Amino acid sequence: MDPMGEARSGPDVMWKQPIHTGEVPGDGTAYDAIVVGGGPGGASAAGYLAMEGQRVLLIEKAVWPRDKICGDAVGGKSLSHVKALGVKATLESTPHFRVTGIVFSSPKGHSVRVALPEEDVQRLEAGYALPREQFDHLLFNQVQQLVRDNGGDVIQGGDVRNVLYDDGAGGEDPGESSGDRRHARGVEVRMGGRDGPTHTYLAPNIVGAAGYRCPVAKSMLESSYDEPMVDRDHYCAGYREYWRGVKGCEDNVGDIEIHFVDTVIPGYFWLFPVAEGVVNVGIGMVMSLLDKQSKKLKALQAEVIAEHPLFKERFANASMIPGTGKGWQLPFGSPRKKAPRQPRRSAANGVFLVGDAASLVDPFSGEGVGNALVSGEMAADHILNGKSPMDYQEALWTALGPELTNSYRMQKMSRRAWLLNWFVGKASKKPAIQEMMTEMIASKEAQENLHSPWFMFKTLMF
Ligand SMILES: Cc1cc2nc3c(=O)[nH]c(=O)nc-3n(C[C@H](O)[C@H](O)[C@H](O)COP(=O)(O)OP(=O)(O)OC[C@H]3O[C@@H](n4cnc5c(N)ncnc54)[C@H](O)[C@@H]3O)c2cc1C
Repeated sequence: MDPMGEARSGPDVMWKQPIHTGEVPGDGTAYDAIVVGGGPGGASAAGYLAMEGQRVLLIEKAVWPRDKICGDAVGGKSLSHVKALGVKATLESTPHFRVTGIVFSSPKGHSVRVALPEEDVQRLEAGYALPREQFDHLLFNQVQQLVRDNGGDVIQGGDVRNVLYDDGAGGEDPGESSGDRRHARGVEVRMGGRDGPTHTYLAPNIVGAAGYRCPVAKSMLESSYDEPMVDRDHYCAGYREYWRGVKGCEDNVGDIEIHFVDTVIPGYFWLFPVAEGVVNVGIGMVMSLLDKQSKKLKALQAEVIAEHPLFKERFANASMIPGTGKGWQLPFGSPRKKAPRQPRRSAANGVFLVGDAASLVDPFSGEGVGNALVSGEMAADHILNGKSPMDYQEALWTALGPELTNSYRMQKMSRRAWLLNWFVGKASKKPAIQEMMTEMIASKEAQENLHSPWFMFKTLMF
């Protein structure tokens, strides 16, 4: 029974239907690339590879329709990939919330609205919010067709259990003391549940895109390099519920809301409408900080909804859609102290990690869909052009490192209630600060201003 099926657009909509992906390929079949995981990162890598005629095997553990626990905001960064992969028009023909701004509130209850860049909003390139069940279905359905049209295969209900390696002769030296020269050459997949048969598939390129517990990442980090996969200072716990009838969230166009509530700091409470009167309501907090709290996220959220002066009125006539309260983890892309590569290793001979498997979630906003799509494209580009996984690893941090590092600074600042009160208080009164924040969402150059003490001083003080 799917609780959102009844609550949103009825049980017979497109994204509630199974996706037919054809026959399971024979044991031992070889491909140009194997992509493990069919979320945004895997769909992006598989789609871009297939569009260039590569023979791809895309393996997904779940069977569609499937849910994904998320805040459901799909930012502007994602939309160029959604378009390039051929999904934007379909997405826009289904129910979705069009984001035009972000409202932030401070522990003291001041709030500031940051408009998304007007041009992006007009061009429908600013951002959407829609349930991941729907978004991922549209993306996977399109990509599975691209893969199969280009001579590849798609497996649903295939649980990748192992990565297979050669004996290490001739592998590229990854350049560290651990120096694992082995080359990945395939995967072992358990088909159709616990008692199903195990199949082996072969390829010179394996893309690990199976999320925060990706078996390819685990095999690479823990077995090949003896490095930890999880770092609780850089992993976040997230909890979401779907609600109906929340005051101020009735429309299909408007703002998403991020609230730095005193009982939730160091973390935040969000309200992201997903259209048709349904709102994604959730809380996220860095795991090592959550370890120090006596309450779990679910209890913290219940308290905010029932008691906080900003929200109790808004939720007075609202109801939670039963069965939608679920938690999951977000592997942040924040730079780590002793890591040999930042945010952690994302490549080995024959292996490219993308999205959550490469720990790329923005450590301030919690957005991970955009970086999953971006890294999927970059991995595909490196495979297509015969560039090495080690080059991919360097290019990935060059592209994403500056903004991830910036966001980490902002996350650390947001742990201080007094600073949030001061900043949001100032910003609520000064249009120049609101404009600066809009600019920062729009352009990388404007983000650089955050590094300029003089610019920040001038904007904040005068
Ligand atoms: C509570 C919460 C709120 C969030 N809010 C937002 C938000 O509002 N906006 C945003 O942009 N991001 C948000 N994120 C982050 C976002 O969900 C992820 O960054 C994003 O889903 C990463 O995509 P991915 O393709 O790398 O991994 P996933 O989306 O996790 O996809 C991985 C896929 O791999 C499959 N898989 C797993 N194991 C195997 C296996 N052994 N074999 C084969 N397949 C396997 C899974 O079934 C899944 O389909 C949030 C995350 C959480 C937990």
